[in-house]
Order: sequence, then C-alpha cells, then structure tokens
Amino acid sequence: MQLPLSRAISPALDWRDRCSSTNTELVARAAELPDLAVIATTDQTAGRGRLGRDWSAPPGSALAISMLVRLEAVPDPRRWGWLPLVAGVAVVRAVRSLGVEGAGLKWPNDVLVDDAHGLPRKLSGILTELAPEGVVIGAGLNLSMTHDELPVATATSLALQGVPVDGDLADRALAATLRELRAIVAQWRSAGSPAELRAIVEPELRTIGRAVRIDRPGLDPLLGTALGLDDDGRLRVRPLGEGDEIIAVAAGDVTHLRYE
Ligand code: ATP
Repeated sequence: MQLPLSRAISPALDWRDRCSSTNTELVARAAELPDLAVIATTDQTAGRGRLGRDWSAPPGSALAISMLVRLEAVPDPRRWGWLPLVAGVAVVRAVRSLGVEGAGLKWPNDVLVDDAHGLPRKLSGILTELAPEGVVIGAGLNLSMTHDELPVATATSLALQGVPVDGDLADRALAATLRELRAIVAQWRSAGSPAELRAIVEPELRTIGRAVRIDRPGLDPLLGTALGLDDDGRLRVRPLGEGDEIIAVAAGDVTHLRYE
C-alpha cells in the first residue's frame, strides 16, 4: 500500500499486508528499531486484548497499529503508567479529526462512541506492552466494518459513525493516529508534573464522575464513584457506603453503571 499521508508523518513505518499481531512483532524487534518505529496492517490475524482476550476484525476492515516508545528519553519511571492513557487520548483526537464527534475514553484503554440509543460502542482498543528497550503502544481501530461484520455487538467502526469509506481511509486514519500519537508522546515526555498529564487525560475520560463497578483479579468487585486520576494515572474511586476512604485502582475491568 502506498500510504503517502502516513509515510510523510512516520518515516519508520513498516506496513504489512498481513501480520499475526503488530504488538508481538514490534516487541520482538524492539531492540533493533528506532524510537517511534511503527508496524501497521489492515489484516491482523491474531490480535490480542488485555488479559489474553481476542481482538479480531475481518481482513481489510480495521487498522492494527503498534508504535515503539523507547526508554531512554523518560526521566521518571512513575510516568510510564500514564502512557496507555495518553495513547487513548491520541486515538480520541485522531478519530475526532476524521469527523467522529463524541468519542471518549473508558479507563484505562477503550475508545467509545455512543450509538443512537446512547449505548457505548467500542471504536478502538489500546494495548500497551513492555518491550526489551521500552514500551509498545498498540491500537486497534475499526475502519470500514459494517454491522454484519462487527466481531462483537458492543463494537462500532468509523464507517458506522459516518466517516466516508474510500480508497484512502486506511491512510487517512493511520496518518491521523500517528500524528496524534507522536505529538502526545512528546508531551508525555516533556510534562513537568503529574498535573500536566492529568490535564491532558481527564477531559477525555468518560469514567470520571460515573458510578462504576471494577472487577479485579482475585478481589471482590468494587462499586463506587470514579473521582479522577492520581499522580500515577491510577483511577481514584470512592467506594459505595464506606466513608471517605479512596481506593486507587491500577488495573481492572471497569463497567460504567447507568444509574448514580
Ligand atoms: P471490555 O471491552 O469488555 O471493557 P477490555 O477493555 O478488557 O474489555 P480489550 O482487552 O481492550 O477489552 O479488548 C478485548 C475485547 O474487545 C474482546 O473481549 C471483545 O469483547 C472486544 N473486541 C474484540 N475485537 C474488537 C473490535 N474489532 N472492535 C471492538 N471490540 C472488539
């Protein structure tokens, strides 16, 4: 594929006609590749979500994008926890630039848009993974999928959100995502304080202010209200009916509850 828009933004773009998992491939090659190197495809055959879940899409209907963020230029190890979150913000900005209104983030890693009934649908998922020399940011972004092609009923695509499907949709979507990812990684690197990172992420985070249920491995479900992010990007939750104690959640499955 020619990809003139994307190649102009990301010289180190390795486009694959088919790839098992762009994240797996980039993690394996991280030691030899430069900062911000990218592997991408519209035919990912063994995509992964968190906790070993599947990420799937009919060939040609979705982008899989992985970008390497190398270790050396990051002064503070506590900053790494923010990387999945700022990556999600980058994808929200990218789909907005393609014309999708109303996209937002569900902590920690989903880009959602509401359907006509107000129900959240997943347009993109983010999976960040450790690599030998840094971290790989992976993003799956549904492009041209029709209703019948959706892998799960909770998914949506750019096409279903009204973005015109033409020959260069993959290039436009990839270029927009790479542009926003590169910009936000630079901001993430240069941020002087957690407050600066919070100011980038919190405005896009739908989870804040919501009643949530959080399922964590080996623990009882946590029911409460999401208040915001702490200095490490963890979700601060006030549990239901337990006084003023606040719990900081580093990882878990969040359900936005529809009642307050
Ligand atoms: P949830 O979506 O339930 O909050 P999660 O955030 O843990 O789960 P991820 O690990 O990001 O999910 O992604 C895996 C899940 O995403 C799968 O279990 C499936 O439900 C869903 N999924 C798989 N492929 C797609 C796709 N192309 N578009 C949208 N959703 C998908």
